Amino acid sequence: MKKSQENQLMDAITSLCKRRGFIFPGSEIYGGLANTWDYGPLGVELKNNIKQEWWKRFVTMRDDMVGLDSSLLMNTKVWENSGHLSNFSDYLIECKNNKCHNRIRIDEMLSPEELSHFQGSINQIFTTVDFNTKTPLTAEIALDKIKIIHKEMQDLFNKKYKCAECGEKNWSTPAQFNLMLKTSLGAVEGSSIVYFRPETAQGIFINFKNIVDTSRKKLPFGVGQIGKAFRNEITPGNFIFRTREFEQMEIEYFIPEPKTNADWQGHFEAWRGEMHEWIKSLGIKSDEIHELEVPAEELAHYSKKTIDFEYEFPFGRKELYGLAYRTDFDLKNHGLDYTDQEGNKFVPHVIEPSLGVERTVLAVLLSAYAEEVDGDSPDGVASETRVVLKLPAKLAPFKIAVFPLLKNKPELVAAAEEIYHTLKRSWNCDFDDSGNVGKRYRRHDEIGTPYCITVDFDTLENGDVTVRDRDTMKQERIKITDLQNYFSEKI
Ligand code: ATP
Repeated sequence: MKKSQENQLMDAITSLCKRRGFIFPGSEIYGGLANTWDYGPLGVELKNNIKQEWWKRFVTMRDDMVGLDSSLLMNTKVWENSGHLSNFSDYLIECKNNKCHNRIRIDEMLSPEELSHFQGSINQIFTTVDFNTKTPLTAEIALDKIKIIHKEMQDLFNKKYKCAECGEKNWSTPAQFNLMLKTSLGAVEGSSIVYFRPETAQGIFINFKNIVDTSRKKLPFGVGQIGKAFRNEITPGNFIFRTREFEQMEIEYFIPEPKTNADWQGHFEAWRGEMHEWIKSLGIKSDEIHELEVPAEELAHYSKKTIDFEYEFPFGRKELYGLAYRTDFDLKNHGLDYTDQEGNKFVPHVIEPSLGVERTVLAVLLSAYAEEVDGDSPDGVASETRVVLKLPAKLAPFKIAVFPLLKNKPELVAAAEEIYHTLKRSWNCDFDDSGNVGKRYRRHDEIGTPYCITVDFDTLENGDVTVRDRDTMKQERIKITDLQNYFSEKI
């Protein structure tokens, strides 16, 4: 896709979201707060539908899963032991131009080869040095070596990369920046520093014993959780793609201690398949998804293998979801274990499918968005470009819109209202009587309503209505008494 087309598509989605009440810029009446977004009446429906589908598919419909809703704020020891306080950071570099001070994430600029060279060199130092016992490499020598690598990075930037804001090549030495967002608890400022969770996963790990003791689940089993996570991202942006406050849908799937690689790989492969099936169910085409196995030197501190599921966003191929083999890293660090029915005590290993809610919303909207020139549309609406969100019916904010053909005919309005109130008990429906029927169809196409019902004079005679399908634009007559069954099969 050309740059201008990419921007056009993102602009079209952002403007549709604002105009139709899906997503508003945060704190708008006070001039906004950069990279915060509020979900409007339709956006909250779409988002909730995604979360409910995920919960149903991965928690309530499976025998080997249970759910959890843990706190956002946790004891700081959680983050010490999980490694987040020391390791959950990105490298940033700052433009030294006095008027600019643009900060960027190093991994977003470097080529994959450069990135893997630097990360490989730094990881090697960390694996050979023990900073506590100072053997076999002393911490001082290690820090000197790291400084040399930082200098090498800075030189490369000054030689090769211009600042996107001011055009200068005048970069600072790179620095590590911890992504955890801090706050303090209690009446005295700074009395007790705590961190907002940067992932929902740790809430699951620290409740492992409680869940085993209360749920009677035997390995292998998993715990699913949906909730907010916070990261002080260096470069938030691309609408809702990268924000500092976001939601995750995470599963920690606990397996017995693997005796061979095949033992964990089997579970990993099963979850890989599940993730593809989930993506398909969202209406995202499989050729828009690419798997990327994260190179060893770029793996997160807890992972032995990670696959990123990347989606072709208009601004580039970027991570939609991750699937990681977290080994026994987390439970071990929290001092937790499991005793099986034979009395064997061990630390379970973990496979983690990790999904972002907002990235799902964005990928779903992008995949569903279409502009169609409808010369002779089957619904007979005059030729114009039709904007339509071809959302899977399960995800659509409204499933059905009900129209009286004319709003000034009380008998049509009354019949339409009765149908609307009946169907609303089962599905989220809209009642729309403004403008002509053609305009109402187009309004509902744009927000993805899969079915529109029109009540006309024949309805009063025959007890049937016109049901119009969003995607085919075809219309059929259905008896009012059959509507419940008709939609139960379709939605
Ligand atoms: P990235 O490389 O894009 O920063 P990540 O590898 O740090 O992502 P994970 O730690 O694997 O992300 O988090 C799991 C999922 O949470 C991601 O696949 C993504 O869907 C979502 N996610 C992570 N960070 C953000 C963010 N800042 N804004 C929105 N969603 C996010």
